[in-house]
Amino acid sequence: MSDKLPNLIDPLLFAERRSILAGALKIGALERLTGMVADADSDITVEVLFAKQGKRAVISGKIQTVLMLECQSCLQALAWPLELAFKLAVVSSLQEADKLEIDCEPLLLDGEKISLNDLIEDEILLAIPDYPKHGYDCIPQHQSKDPAFDENSRIETNNPFSVLAKLKKTGE
Ligand SMILES: [Zn+2]
Repeated sequence: MSDKLPNLIDPLLFAERRSILAGALKIGALERLTGMVADADSDITVEVLFAKQGKRAVISGKIQTVLMLECQSCLQALAWPLELAFKLAVVSSLQEADKLEIDCEPLLLDGEKISLNDLIEDEILLAIPDYPKHGYDCIPQHQSKDPAFDENSRIETNNPFSVLAKLKKTGE
């Protein structure tokens, strides 16, 4: 079940009504994000709650999706499950944003409506790491011969005193 989400909304009106929007949209609907993923056909599941905290309109929500990113180590596809929560307070000026009395990020409303798609896209872009990588060693490691190591072990075996020194140390 995925209901279509509206894009342009009036956050103040929605906050007054304490609306809840739940549904899904395609990654392909978000232009900037589409350029960063291999599969733009996946769904983004979204739940957004509008409320008031004091006189302040507050938008909180959850976003869930799986992004097909490119691993920055091996350059292969990397499925990146993303589950994030956000909480934004609607402000009408930067001054207002500066002295925000509640603990959330300011969302500047210049006009009557905001783009829900932009909001969702911004939150996702913020959550994508700069250098996404597989959680394991995805590049085959070449066991390189370390000449320094060889040198040390040769000296060690040729010098009986180094063994004595070691024994002394551990004996203490
Ligand atoms: Zn990788």
